Amino acid sequence: MHELSIVMGIIKIAEDHAKAAGAHSVDEIELDIGTLSGVDMESMEFAWTQAKKGTMLNNSLKKVNSISAKAKCLDCDTEFDIKNYYDACPVCGEHLISILRGKELKVKSLLVS
Ligand SMILES: [Zn+2]
Repeated sequence: MHELSIVMGIIKIAEDHAKAAGAHSVDEIELDIGTLSGVDMESMEFAWTQAKKGTMLNNSLKKVNSISAKAKCLDCDTEFDIKNYYDACPVCGEHLISILRGKELKVKSLLVS
């Protein structure tokens, strides 16, 4: 499962940071996940519950910020919300767009103790 390797990567990053700070546990973790990141949230939740067992994140509170995707049309400069990479500009119908945000998949903040 794609999400499991993502989750394990996130947990490793969090543990590395916590260890570097001399902490024993991660109390809270905040993630930024873009709607174009390709992460399935349901699979992510499932993977998270499984993967955190026995780690420093076992009792941590997880917050997820869903970052809605935005793109800019390269033809008419219109900025608009998109759901898929292949969405066209709503103003001129152009498919040449630049993704401004929505591909995020990162640890935004950690609270350790
Ligand atoms: Zn356009």
